[in-house]
Amino acid sequence: APAPPPARHLFSDPAEVEALRGNLLAWYDRCKRDLPWRALAATEPDADKRGYAVWVSEIMLQQTQVATVIDYYNRWMQKWPTLQALAQASLEEVNELWAGLGYYSRGKRLQEAARKVVSELAGQMPRTAEDLQKLLPGVGRYTAGAIASISYGQATGVVDGNVIRVLCRLRCIGADSSSPAVIDRLWDMANVLVDRIRPGDFNQALMELGATVCVPKAPLCGECPVKQHCQAWRRKLFGKPPAVPDVEDCGVGDCPLCPPATEPWDSSLGVTNFPRKAAKKPPRAMRTATCVLERRGCHGAPEYLIVQRPSSGLLAGLWEFPSLPLAQDLQEEKEREELADHLQAWMGWPVAAKGLQFIGEVIHIFSHIHQTYVVYSLCLDRDVTLDPALSPSRWVTEDEFHASAVSTAMKKV
Ligand code: SF4
Repeated sequence: APAPPPARHLFSDPAEVEALRGNLLAWYDRCKRDLPWRALAATEPDADKRGYAVWVSEIMLQQTQVATVIDYYNRWMQKWPTLQALAQASLEEVNELWAGLGYYSRGKRLQEAARKVVSELAGQMPRTAEDLQKLLPGVGRYTAGAIASISYGQATGVVDGNVIRVLCRLRCIGADSSSPAVIDRLWDMANVLVDRIRPGDFNQALMELGATVCVPKAPLCGECPVKQHCQAWRRKLFGKPPAVPDVEDCGVGDCPLCPPATEPWDSSLGVTNFPRKAAKKPPRAMRTATCVLERRGCHGAPEYLIVQRPSSGLLAGLWEFPSLPLAQDLQEEKEREELADHLQAWMGWPVAAKGLQFIGEVIHIFSHIHQTYVVYSLCLDRDVTLDPALSPSRWVTEDEFHASAVSTAMKKV
């Protein structure tokens, strides 16, 4: 069994834990942001409705800023106020509402899970973090803990990016914060700290602290309600690790949670010495040729051809202008030829590569892909009969394009 971590990195004093909980909850009661899912979770008497609302908000908040989520959340809850309503929606409707929020598989999985609750669980959400994670597709350990604590009052901790930052600073954890050893310790810590009477509020308070006070670059330590429990802050003030009774200074040596000896505390960084992450892999570069095919619609207004992407993989099920991934370092002439061949399938007649007008390049960064769209256009002077054997496709006006389930990248194009 691995050796227990040095006490410096734990919350082993019950009196300190109690004081930290009290200070954090009192601050949260005073300073918390007014958010629609919080209002619903606090006032809704039906536990399943609370669970559903928190679930929707948590899935939307993964990788997305609160300010962006609010409008999407409100529209979603207006359209599908219950799990049962969501289970009856089509994937196309879900993608349309989700358009612009990014990470599109989230909406799809949310809807699949709602169908599962209705068809296999008699419409009742699982009530514990363990069951939520086990039974609902797309619900990981964090989301399960958030739903169970906020909606059902289970005393279980949560660890997200904000909590990682706060806990690493509170306990001077400087080993790679994405390593399993550190993540396991942080979950243990979150489960020790969570308030037994107000677990949902406590978890939200810890995340709120990370989002508004203990922020990545310039934390507001002077205003922090838990600064007296924060080892990083004390270290910054006093220039050395705080004294912990009966504990060796584990700042050197082979402590699995301290910063590596090769990258010790940097006093110019202060509390932002923590957390530390291994360097991220650079995003993969991809080039895609895309063509905006335009025709005159029956009322003379321009119409554009959009086609649907496959139902799995990046941007699954969304609509886009006919597009073709390109090999890197292809000559421009060759790119045109490949795109012209690809378009021929849609047109049903040969497309001359030189007839494609180069418009420019659009860069869009997905989380792990640096995508360059090489944009061409082609105006058609005769009609095209779309082949139903190919991927679904349709002609849309500009307004219809914007109302369709298209990604932000395609809107840029
Ligand atoms: Fe974060 Fe500063 Fe508060 Fe410590 S004192 S938890 S570093 S804001």
